[in-house]
Amino acid sequence: MLSITGLSKTYDNGVHALQGVDLSIGKGMFGLLGPNGAGKSSLMRTISTLQSADSGSITFDGIDVFKDPQALRQRLGYLPQDFGVYPRVSAYDLLDHMAVLKGIHNKGERKESVEGLLAHTNLYQHRSKAVSGFSGGMRQRFGIAQALLGDPDLLIVDEPTAGLDPEERNRFHNLLVSLGEQKVVILSTHIVEDVAELCPNMAVLAGGKILLEGNPIALTDKL
Ligand code: ADP
Ligand code: ADP
Repeated sequence: MLSITGLSKTYDNGVHALQGVDLSIGKGMFGLLGPNGAGKSSLMRTISTLQSADSGSITFDGIDVFKDPQALRQRLGYLPQDFGVYPRVSAYDLLDHMAVLKGIHNKGERKESVEGLLAHTNLYQHRSKAVSGFSGGMRQRFGIAQALLGDPDLLIVDEPTAGLDPEERNRFHNLLVSLGEQKVVILSTHIVEDVAELCPNMAVLAGGKILLEGNPIALTDKL
């Protein structure tokens, strides 16, 4: 369970990106919906320990994220927005390298987890190809594979389906839904349909504040 209380952030340029955000998020897929500039990425980066907040608190399964960011990082998978500049290295080698960075040093363990993740994201048959030549959908699935290294309990996916064709989008959605059976998965997006289709729970963020929270079907009239 992820619990956020009174989270506020004002950037150095005076923008109030988050203004007293309260949210409780359990296992399954949770949609964070909001227009551009709503504060979604600020919130995702703060949960992911990539930036600080001015006030408020975040806990995940009893971990105080601000007091013990390292403990949270060990439980977290993060697919940032615009993840996609890749070197001309094969998918296998890049994921293997990322596994080393993630602290998976045992060779056998790494092989098992890299091969398993490539299979799980439907990329195993492309494992020897350079990620720089992947299609948008393949890159997004590769992004999920890297986010899943170390088997995190909390997965954060920021604006993932921009530019995907319908088939790739469906494939990506199915992958997220299957992950939501085991993990807390937060999908941050401005696309109402994606949240309505995938997420049993959601919140609407605008101007750094939570405007609505609940089941997307129950909220349909208001979206
Ligand atoms: P923090 O206090 O969390 O370190 P900062 O306010 O210092 O956050 O900003 C982090 C970085 O983002 C800075 O290097 C800043 O230049 C950059 N930045 C500034 N304005 C924007 C913007 N509108 N969108 C994205 N990044 C920005
Ligand atoms: P979203 O992800 O919903 O588009 P963001 O969190 O990126 O929203 O941005 C919220 C507001 O904060 C915007 O006005 C944006 O320009 C501003 N902003 C985001 N990051 C920074 C930063 N690092 N420094 C200064 N302003 C920022």
